[in-house]
Amino acid sequence: MMMADIIGAINASSIIAIVTHINPDGDAIGSSLALMHAIKNKGKEVQVYCQDDIPQTFDFLAGVKNIRKPELIQNTKYDLVIALDCSDMDRMGSCNTIFNRSERSANIDHHISNTRYAQINIVDGKAAATGEIIFELIKKLINFKDKNIARALYTSIVSDTGRFAFSNTTSRTHRVVAELLDWGADQVEISNQLFKNYSLEWVQLLGYAINSLETFHHGRIAVISITLDMMESAGADERHIEGIIQYAKDIKDIELAILLREVNPQTTKASLRSSSIIDVSSMAMEFGGGGHKRAAGCTLNTPLIEAKKSLLGAAINYL
Ligand code: 5GP
Ligand code: MN
Repeated sequence: MMMADIIGAINASSIIAIVTHINPDGDAIGSSLALMHAIKNKGKEVQVYCQDDIPQTFDFLAGVKNIRKPELIQNTKYDLVIALDCSDMDRMGSCNTIFNRSERSANIDHHISNTRYAQINIVDGKAAATGEIIFELIKKLINFKDKNIARALYTSIVSDTGRFAFSNTTSRTHRVVAELLDWGADQVEISNQLFKNYSLEWVQLLGYAINSLETFHHGRIAVISITLDMMESAGADERHIEGIIQYAKDIKDIELAILLREVNPQTTKASLRSSSIIDVSSMAMEFGGGGHKRAAGCTLNTPLIEAKKSLLGAAINYL
């Protein structure tokens, strides 16, 4: 599937929906807003939907307040729906109603585990962020430099590359980002907004998380366990989990980091990160999840303690 197919579909549509994944991150929000601005510039009607609340961290991005919950769709039928950063249809949560009802569908993503669930699928596993693919698309849609698009895409890429330090960062990533700076993105301002803006809840949760740290397999696997009690004591919610796993992953000699979060006493969400050997995308797929080689996740319908045993059992086969 080529870029020309999605451009043709956008040009042929007059009312377009963009949907992105549950618990939205910088890439989900940044790539959606950037594409929204570009499509608006073409004189078309466009609406971004996300099942979950947008973290306040992203309030500085133009258009963020226009993102709606899918419940507010009423009966609008879209000519085209574009799913961004969703590796499968489960990732869009209740946005699937909009997806299923639209005349045509597209899926733009950078997860190797992507299931190609749309009519038009543009999946580039080498792109560091969905925003990196969206930049290529936007340059074919509009022929001027837009500062709001640049800020949104910079947010997308700086988030998914861990500030250009993860192994997904390529020379293409840096070339795209160089252009975004030329388009008017201010990297100091954006980094201050995204990374020097900790909420007290996040720091308090980090404290509990670090106290829960355990290591296994001769110090090569690190596990952080976040219980409902910890979340409550910190006044935190699932949005405050972001970034915590990195503290486990960055310990010297750790190959695999696992962050377990008790969603409820019978459900555990796992985040997986690897340094250089384990393909955590395949590991997560064993449990019905997915993601990338070095960052993936899954949800287990078992208590946290059981989830820990299952994941450690599976991990041994990869080391
Ligand atoms: P995180 O651990 O930050 O939630 O997610 C890391 C990566 O794994 C993200 O790219 C995300 O898309 C993917 N991921 C996390 N949880 C799931 C899941 O339950 N299913 C799938 N397919 N991907 C997931
Ligand atoms: Mn992404």
